[in-house]
Amino acid sequence: MKFAQVIVDVSAYPVDRPFDYLIPEDWEELIDLGCRVKVPFGPRNVLGFVVGITSESEVPVEKVKPITEILDIESILTEEMLSLGKWLKHQTICYEIDALQVMLPGALRAKYEKYAVLNGEPSHLPAILQPYYLKTAKVNLSHFEKANLLKPIKRAVKDGLIIIDNEVKQKGQVKQIRKVQIHSQEQLENVLQQIGKRAPKQVALVEWMMQHAGEILLPDDICEAVHITNSVLNSVIDKGAAAYIQEEVYRDPFTKNVEKTEFLQLTDEQDHALSKIIAAIDDQRQETFLLHGITGSGKTEVYLQAIQRTIADGKESIVLVPEISLTPQMTERFKSRFGDEVAVMHSGLSVGEKYDEWRKVQQGKVKVVVGARSAIFAPFKNLGLIILDEEHESTYKQEDSPRYHARDVAIWRGKYYNCPVILGSATPALESFARAKKGVYTLLTLAHRAKNQALPTVRIVDMREQLQAGNRSMFSEPLMEALQDRLDKKEQTVLFLNRRGYSSFVLCRDCGTTVQCPNCDISLTYHRYQEKLKCHYCGHDEYIPETCPECQSENIRYFGTGTQKVEEEIYKLFPEARVLRMDVDTTRQKGAHEKMLDAFGRGEADILLGTQMIAKGLDFPNITLVGVLSADTSLHLPDYRAAEKTFQLMTQVSGRAGRHEKLGEVFVQTYTPDHYAIQLSKDQDYTPFYEREMHARHIAGYPPYYYIALVQVSHEDVMLAAEYAGRVAEYLRENLSFNVSVIGPTTASIARLQNRYRYQCLIKYKVEPQLIPVLLQLIKLYRSEWIKKGIVLTVDLDPTMI
Ligand code: ADP
Ligand code: ZN
Ligand code: ZN
Repeated sequence: MKFAQVIVDVSAYPVDRPFDYLIPEDWEELIDLGCRVKVPFGPRNVLGFVVGITSESEVPVEKVKPITEILDIESILTEEMLSLGKWLKHQTICYEIDALQVMLPGALRAKYEKYAVLNGEPSHLPAILQPYYLKTAKVNLSHFEKANLLKPIKRAVKDGLIIIDNEVKQKGQVKQIRKVQIHSQEQLENVLQQIGKRAPKQVALVEWMMQHAGEILLPDDICEAVHITNSVLNSVIDKGAAAYIQEEVYRDPFTKNVEKTEFLQLTDEQDHALSKIIAAIDDQRQETFLLHGITGSGKTEVYLQAIQRTIADGKESIVLVPEISLTPQMTERFKSRFGDEVAVMHSGLSVGEKYDEWRKVQQGKVKVVVGARSAIFAPFKNLGLIILDEEHESTYKQEDSPRYHARDVAIWRGKYYNCPVILGSATPALESFARAKKGVYTLLTLAHRAKNQALPTVRIVDMREQLQAGNRSMFSEPLMEALQDRLDKKEQTVLFLNRRGYSSFVLCRDCGTTVQCPNCDISLTYHRYQEKLKCHYCGHDEYIPETCPECQSENIRYFGTGTQKVEEEIYKLFPEARVLRMDVDTTRQKGAHEKMLDAFGRGEADILLGTQMIAKGLDFPNITLVGVLSADTSLHLPDYRAAEKTFQLMTQVSGRAGRHEKLGEVFVQTYTPDHYAIQLSKDQDYTPFYEREMHARHIAGYPPYYYIALVQVSHEDVMLAAEYAGRVAEYLRENLSFNVSVIGPTTASIARLQNRYRYQCLIKYKVEPQLIPVLLQLIKLYRSEWIKKGIVLTVDLDPTMI
């Protein structure tokens, strides 16, 4: 008898361990480690992954239930992935099922969708379900789950009005097309004799086929070549001249043709860096390099040539970029060098495309993956190199369970395959640079631009002076002059608004109220074209009220310098300018980023206006001016990394100007011109910034001097949320060493989100061997007791936003 140990998709279960299931005798050969199976779990059937196969079980045999279905003939998780999953579970304190699911594309996850099935009169149902049941008898509950609206549904289940059922998600199937495989010469001759002379079209077809014996062709192509119809083709196929076969086709998300590029002759600095990396590739040694190169220093060319070497050794490479849908230029550069050897993986692909790209990697059809965070799990089996470009970016940290950092996973996989990892940046994360200084990472420096262009001249404009001089516009005098100059010279300008994308809000001028989201403690933001207010945390939207909800005044209007408002101002100041506005509104459609950037590259606009999404990756020769409208915004965020992020952003945006022959100029508008993050970004002066900021972190007790961990508690009832957060703090204080500081409970930076009140405790420590055991104990308590009370508790051992 054989048993499978299965990790099931039930992540509210108090204990996180595999369960034993009997493998039916006929299936012993079919079931492998890393396959998905369907198994009974309590009253339901659930999906899970096989993580072990044994010939004994600790559970009495008569109690072990058999596996009811096998979903994969071939394993979808390798043994490497299974051990990576275990490591992730311990490293981030998450359920093992979450660690395994995150490595797979959506189509291959062991996921069910919850459905409510009607079991009575629709009129007896809770109001929120009624409109759905008028259309269908089965309602998908994932939407309600996300919006935290399950309460009335649970009540209806109790009353027996609906039954909850599970269904396997069946998305992203293999796409196949029908082709014709022509048989051998010999067979074709036999068929020809059968046909005789009465069917001249069939004869012509078979004679044509004789010139293509053994080939696999599309039916339409054959019909067209011989001028026959499908029915003629079908009759010779019936007679045995050929056979229909199904052939898998891959959906290709990358339709653009790119021109091939050749290797560049490296500069001395690049060559030095590359030789160190190649030495590690050749020695099959895990070594982590921090490639610190100023913007335009040619880091990408170093990546490309290191990958070339890896391919020559018969191995594979992963390249991570912070948000690939925003950086089509990067994908293009890899495609232009390695063509069809490259697969892309990012959130902008459809479910089917993601599935196909994943399979190309798994089947060894490509050698390089360029992708966003989750591409770090690309299922290569012979990895030779891993690269994280812009390694300081916070998008590499996942904010949902499992709360992993791609950098840590990269180094884990690097150790597994004995291969080097390159972390590249013009402004490395403080902790990475600290590690390089300690010798944990090998520091490689590119201090000059590749084509020896000068760095752009950066001018800091004090907006307080502008205000004193009576200029209330969001454009300072010097920036306006520079803009006019570029318009006259037909050169291009990038205008950068230091915002996340949304920013206008509606304010009552009489009582000062802003219109808030009903579910979250967040002001709603104004979207001009739809004439609507939206919450960007929960998706709530509503029309703009005509009067103030607080004081009924009619004197309400929208405020803030959103991109739309800047655009209007530009048209007022420079009526002749052609502006491309790139923000969440204009880029919602698939491929929109790429189209806009291409248009800008072709010179179809004079000004590219955008938020943080335009800070990265732009490399156009005609950009000679960059304007930062409000450098301070990111300085005032409630985040201990605010100065670091501002320095990184400023450096990156400035790096967009003058990358080619023409000299660049940058204007940074600010109300705090003396802040060191702004002053030091002027000359891309990383080291002094590093030292200054390390000092600040030391004093404030933040990373990299101290480690931090964050425990968050939320509940719909504010009293319960506060009470349990208090219990968490007390528990931590009692059980952790006296020199660990536990701060809190405090309200989270967004105190209410999706109708849940949020509190948090911050733990700061230097060395604390007890931390993990104590947190595990806390989680055990939560999973076995608190969860039933509706509490949600999360632990983040590497919080990036606090
Ligand atoms: P980074 O990634 O460091 O910002 P890039 O790799 O984008 O820099 O390089 C900046 C520009 O310099 C690009 O246009 C690139 O083609 C060019 N470049 C890079 N290396 C060389 C080289 N060795 N010789 C000539 N041009 C180069
Ligand atoms: Zn909301
Ligand atoms: Zn009011």
